[in-house]
This record gives sequence, structure tokens and C-alpha cells, in this order.
Amino acid sequence: MSDATAVPTHCPYCALQCGMSLRPTGAPEAPAEVVERADFPVNRGALCGKGRTAPSVLSSRVRLTGPLVRSPDTGALVPASWEEALAAVADGLRRTRADHGPDAVGVFGGGGLTNEKAYSLGKFARVVLGTSQIDYNGRFCMSSAAAAHQRAFGLDRGLPFPLEDVPRTGCVILVGSNLAETMPPALRYLTELKENGGKLIVVDPRRTRTAEQADLHLAPRPGTDLALALGLLHLVVAEGRVDEEFVRERTTGWEEARAGVMSHWPEQVERITGVSVPSLREAVALFCDAGSGMVLTARGPEQQSKGTDTVGAWINLCLATGRAGRPLSGYGCLTGQGNGQGGREHGQKADQLPGYRKLDDPAARAHVAGVWGVDPESLPGPGRSAYELLDALGGDVKALLLMGSNPVVSAPRAAHVEGRLRSLDFLAVADVVLSETAALADVVLPVTQWAEETGTMTNLEGRVLLRRRALDPPAGVRSDLEVLHGLAGLLGHGKGFPADPEEVFEELRRASAGGPADYSGIDYRRVEEEGGVFWPCPEPGHPGTPRLFLERFATADGRARFVPVTHRAAAEETDAEYPVVLTTGRVVSQYQSGAQTRRVDELNAAAPGPFVELHPRLAERIGVAEGERITVVSRRGRAVAPARITASIRPDTVFMPFHWAGEGRANTLVNPALDPVSRMPEFKVCAVRLERA
Ligand code: SF4
Repeated sequence: MSDATAVPTHCPYCALQCGMSLRPTGAPEAPAEVVERADFPVNRGALCGKGRTAPSVLSSRVRLTGPLVRSPDTGALVPASWEEALAAVADGLRRTRADHGPDAVGVFGGGGLTNEKAYSLGKFARVVLGTSQIDYNGRFCMSSAAAAHQRAFGLDRGLPFPLEDVPRTGCVILVGSNLAETMPPALRYLTELKENGGKLIVVDPRRTRTAEQADLHLAPRPGTDLALALGLLHLVVAEGRVDEEFVRERTTGWEEARAGVMSHWPEQVERITGVSVPSLREAVALFCDAGSGMVLTARGPEQQSKGTDTVGAWINLCLATGRAGRPLSGYGCLTGQGNGQGGREHGQKADQLPGYRKLDDPAARAHVAGVWGVDPESLPGPGRSAYELLDALGGDVKALLLMGSNPVVSAPRAAHVEGRLRSLDFLAVADVVLSETAALADVVLPVTQWAEETGTMTNLEGRVLLRRRALDPPAGVRSDLEVLHGLAGLLGHGKGFPADPEEVFEELRRASAGGPADYSGIDYRRVEEEGGVFWPCPEPGHPGTPRLFLERFATADGRARFVPVTHRAAAEETDAEYPVVLTTGRVVSQYQSGAQTRRVDELNAAAPGPFVELHPRLAERIGVAEGERITVVSRRGRAVAPARITASIRPDTVFMPFHWAGEGRANTLVNPALDPVSRMPEFKVCAVRLERA
């Protein structure tokens, strides 16, 4: 059903950014209803349960509708006026800066913030606070793929082609992605692929609902997919399936990469991964016999202490077989928060400036400083990555401004991070509900939600989208841009931080001009009329760039780079004390830390709490029955949740979703070992033992 009275917009949650329309109802308890929007090509009207129920959060009983300030007398959060709350935040940040220097103030953003907010938050940190200590939770989602993209192709965009290309390729290898749970409307691309005669290979330690659709399911032991990719490339070489012409014409570094894979014999790879040699050979045959192919990775390979190399190994497979830089072929990253892509392009990442410029590049600093009207020398250098920043709280970082993130639930080694947050001299949190992190704050600022504000998002295809304000926010709530505008004014920057999103976007266009993620040809009118514009779009009238790398890669010489990588073990291996592998992930009816979705009755009914998924043989060994409470213990702590017994998981592995706080908080257990390049923590592999609770 379509409806001319409804406002076209996009879902507030994941990086697919499904199109929907919102029809205001005028009823306070349900201020808007979702209307199908079939004209947006990514989802063609389909939504998962999270998208369908998103308006419920707008009128949630637990919605914050006024600022809260911690009382010095009682220690409780008590209502305050906006003037009092903003003054308290400005005072906390100013005092910390004066006493301990600018880097004692940290800023933590989120992958759900619009481009305008991410841009303003980065500018606020560097211009108003003068701190290098800014990063965002998107570091936990896509940073390994981003780093591998940069290394191989000279540019990072989640997908270098639109999703509509997927059904027309010959074979897809989907690595560590469970689209059926994470992005259900995207599953149809795989269904159509198979209807068109294409082949689907799924690499996942669990036989997920996505893996069930595969022509071939490979279930490696968690943390060994790098070895798996090397083993496949070894077979490609051994069987003479290298695309020599593509390698010669379009790449560099092949000989070194080739030499590196020759020691990865199939039998050795079988020993490391648990994937049989015949399955390895079948995968190579399926991938190479198809005339075109794609490798799509997600958090499985990326959230490892070797995530960048793991993604790099899959990219090498694409390059060696000529499955990159050609129509209907390539490598892409199929994951992320709503604006995980745009969030890292415009300056809330520790090492980046708007337009995907590097903070340590003098020319980039000069360009952006010129737009901002400041001396390039005044801009701080790169700061710490997300986990390192959280780990430093209460140490040399003594105050934190946090927007759009809930690290008490979403960060690795979560109990430790919670302790670091508690040890701060000052914490200010902007959020829509009193999340577990907001509950620790000295000041809580209630902000608008997606339907109540205008702004752009960049989805995983690099498609810049506009979300128009469809509803008035509740009285007492302000937008994040209004918060930054107010704080900047109180801290002596009355200009340069407009609260109007289009004004911010116009400045963002200029700041991004000439950079890798060039938005200078994009404006609100175009995005609205065309239903989205793909970056780079370097001038008005430029059509945008749906498909990258068809002529040349974004490296200096135009060639893709093979980067030699070798397999290494996870940072923490199983042993006699911790004999089982824990891997974490998501379920379809909850999103990230659950700050929004745990407030939706329908979603809670479908996914009421955490669980520990384990194989019947493992359950029998420890004497646990279905539904019985089970304690999972790692070197970081313990979590308790009911057992869910299924033969779809490897007997040496347990799975926990990470959406909940309290005793079932999966991230309490997670090892914060970081990838040396992307600084992404190892959410996907750690060693645990199981006990009956
Ligand atoms: Fe929203 Fe993602 Fe679900 Fe689409 S798949 S409706 S963007 S949560």
C-alpha cells in the first residue's frame, strides 16, 4: 500500500537503510504508522520486524522528555532545565580541559548518527574541545573491512556496487553473515541469485537460516576463516584457475601473495578449519566455474584480532580470480549500523577528517581547516580507537561526551568498560532513553529520534539518503545538532555549529570536496528527487558513482594491491581451563545494544532475553537440558543465560547474542584483543568454559 499523505523516509536501524513511509496519526500513544514504500530499490517495500515497529520507540513510556542532572545531595538523576543541563555539561568539559589539558576530554559517537551529526561532532571535538580523543562505536562493526578495502583498493566503500547487481553474478561467497537475522529484506538478493542459476556458498560456524539456503555451507572453526581463504587461493593456483590477464593488467604484488599461499595445503587447511578437502575443492569449482563472482563479508571475519588480514585474504581470492573491478564481480562488506559508512567518512573516527581524509595528511588538514576557518596547526592529531579510548577513561581521559552509543552493553570486556565509565570525573550522554550507559551519566540530554529530525545517511552501498522530519518531537527534547550548537556557544564558539541540518550538510559538501568520499555534488534536493546519490559525486550534475573500480582502482597507479597475509591463531585459544569457543552475534528481533528495540513489546515478545546456543553433544557432556540456566565463564567474567540446544552449531563452539545487559551480557566475556590495523576487537572468538548455573 502506498500513501500520498505519508512522508518517505528510512528505517532508523541497520546499514541497509530500508525505505519506508511514515503517516502521522495524531495519536500520542502511536504518533505514526509505517506505510509500505515500494519505490526504494534496496528493499522494495519489505521491512523486518524492527523496521515495522520502529515508530513504537517514538512514544515509548520510557522515552526521555527532559534533561536530567545528577544531584550532588542525593546522587540521583533529577529533572533539570535545558539551560541548567547544557551549562553543567559545558562546565564539566571546560573544567576538565583547564585542569588536565584538551586530551583529558573524550568524545564517543555512534554509527547511527546522521552524516550531519557525525560531521558536527568531529568538528566540535577538534575545534571547540581541541581533543584528539574521539572515536565511535562503528569501530566495532566495519573497520576491518574498511582497512582491508583501503589497503587493496585505495578506497573504502562497503559495497563497490549496488545490491541489485548481486542476483546477476555467477556465484556469491557469503562469509560470516547471517542476513536472515541481520538484514532480512536483503535475503531476497540471494534467493534471486539462485533463481537466476547462480550459486551460493555460505561460510559460517553455525548452520544459520542463511546457511540453509546455500548450495554449499562451509562451517570453519571460529577464527580460522583466514586459513580457509588461503586454502581456497592455494587450490586456485594449484588447479591453474588464476586469471593471469587480470592479475597482470589490473593488480600489483601477486608474486608475493602467491608465494604466501603455497604453504597452505588443503590437508593442512582442513586440520586448522575443520572444513574437508573435498568441500574446499567444491567451493573453488563453484566460484571459478561461474563466469563472475562476489565475496561478501560481514562481522564474522571482521571482528577478529586479525580481521583486516582475514578480509584481505578474501580480497586476494577475488583479485586472483579476476572477481573485482569488473561488472557483476567484486568484494563487498555487507554489514553495519544505519550510518556506519557515513559515520566514518565525516570525522568522528579517531584518524579521519571529513570526506574520508586522513587526519595525519598535511594537505587534508589544510583543506578542512580552511573550511572550518581555523589554523591547520590547531587541529589535534589522530587519537585512540574506540576500545582504547574506553579503556583510558578514568585514567588520562577524565571527562566524556557520548552521543548515540551504549558501550555498557556493546563494548568488549563490558564489565571493565562499565567500571571505566563509572570512574570518570564527568560523563554526559545524549540519548532517547535512559540506556545502561546514560544511567551512569552526570548529565543526560534527551534527543530527537529519526522521524523527528532531518538528515542524511549513507547506506552500505555508498548511497546517500535523506530522512525528512515526519513528526514534531515531544516538548522538552532537542536534536543532537541543537545540543552541539548550544554547547559550542557556551564554550566560546557562537558560530560554526548550526542547528539546521541542511546548513551543516552544505558545509560538509565543501569539506568533503576533493576527498575520497566526495559529496560536493550532492544536495538535499537531488537526494530527495533521485531517491539517493552514490558517492563520489564531485560536482553538481555528476551522476554519482554506483559502481567503483570498473576502469581503475583508487590507488596511485590504478591497480589493486595484493597484500600477503598468513594465518595466525585467535588471540585467545581454548585450553584445559577454557575448552570451548564463544562466538557472539545478533538475533532478528533485537538491534545492537537493544537500547531502542528492548523498548518494543512486539520485539521483546519475539526475543525476550539472552541465550546460550550449544550442540547436543556439548550439552550432554556438561549435563544441561534445553532451557536450563548455564554459566559461561571467560577470563573477563561470567554471564548466565538459558541453554538453547541445537545441532546447527559446531560441538566445540557456543553462540550468544549480545543485545542484553545484566547477568546475560555476552560482551562481559569478550576478549578486547585488537586487530593491529583496524583496532577492531575480537568479538567473534574467545575461550570459555560452561557450568550449570
Ligand atoms: Fe531496518 Fe535493517 Fe530491518 Fe531494513 S533490515 S527494516 S534497515 S533493521
